[in-house]
Amino acid sequence: MELDRIAIHDSVDIVFPPQQLVDALSDLPVTVEAVTDGASFDRTDGVVAFGPGENFLDAGWVHCIRAGYDEFDVDDYEAAGVSLTNSTGIHGTTVGETVLGYLLAFARRLHRYRDRQNESAWVREPQSVPFTLAEKRICVIGLGTLGQGVVSRANGLGMEVVGVRRSGRETPGVETVYTPDELHAAVSDARFVVLTTPLTDETAGMIDASVLKTMREDAYLINVARGPVVVENALIDALSSGSIAGAGLDVFETEPLPESSPLWDFENVILTPHVAAMTNAYHEDIAALVRENVTRISNGDELYNHVI
Ligand code: NAD
Repeated sequence: MELDRIAIHDSVDIVFPPQQLVDALSDLPVTVEAVTDGASFDRTDGVVAFGPGENFLDAGWVHCIRAGYDEFDVDDYEAAGVSLTNSTGIHGTTVGETVLGYLLAFARRLHRYRDRQNESAWVREPQSVPFTLAEKRICVIGLGTLGQGVVSRANGLGMEVVGVRRSGRETPGVETVYTPDELHAAVSDARFVVLTTPLTDETAGMIDASVLKTMREDAYLINVARGPVVVENALIDALSSGSIAGAGLDVFETEPLPESSPLWDFENVILTPHVAAMTNAYHEDIAALVRENVTRISNGDELYNHVI
């Protein structure tokens, strides 16, 4: 394709101000400008956006600033002959550190002390409650960028790391690799089950009542993947009945999480508003991906991180 312009769609504003990316790409040999809904595109345009938008199928290339491109209708892009690229590969550190935060909070009870700080209450957790992460088993489901970011940090803490990978192939830092059909065995003895898969037909509803029932009573579920990977009502039931110990949740079936959701009220749940990958340097990582593909387009090479 011939590339004349990169249009930074204002949907990226949910993650960073569009102008940050315009500035970061200002030295490219093409026009780089911010656009809003209603902008028109042609085949010489690349569009950088958070999610699908108006007239994007008229462009030559659309880059999604998220790893999960599940909101894009991939078939439409293929039919229209529009290249679609995503941002997988950049979230291992941010999401890895966020997951570490949940793990440490639950083990060392930091979330409970913050709750009590809000009430100026000097109250210790019962002695039987705090624990250490060292030697505890963590099961990481999905061993891509996010999964490996979690694995390497769990290794650093001396945890016993197991994982689930479609191929079942050996993975550095993971003691035992299970395949998806062995999911129950994979989660059954883990203190932490961490979800780091994309949302696909295969993973939608993957963590259902039966998987939650297989988990230990002292286990925590961490979801930084996508909300619908977990059957949310089944999770609420498991938390209500105490059949698992708690959950760290960054993503939900409906976002923003409705005020009426019972998930807000569990003291053993840490909720974050889909921010596991948030960082003040996000636009720099996106700029590097866009820059790479501008080079590839001018060389006529296959696009990096291409979905279509
Ligand atoms: P990735 O492509 O690098 O890794 C995903 C991995 O999951 C791949 O290795 C894939 O083979 C594996 N996988 C797919 N189906 C599986 C299954 N049924 N069982 C086990 N493994 C399976 O992607 P990534 O950058 O690691 O991101 C993963 C997902 O996490 C994204 O698609 C997105 O939905 C979500 N995400 C969320 C945030 C956030 O802010 N919470 C940030 C980035 C990504």
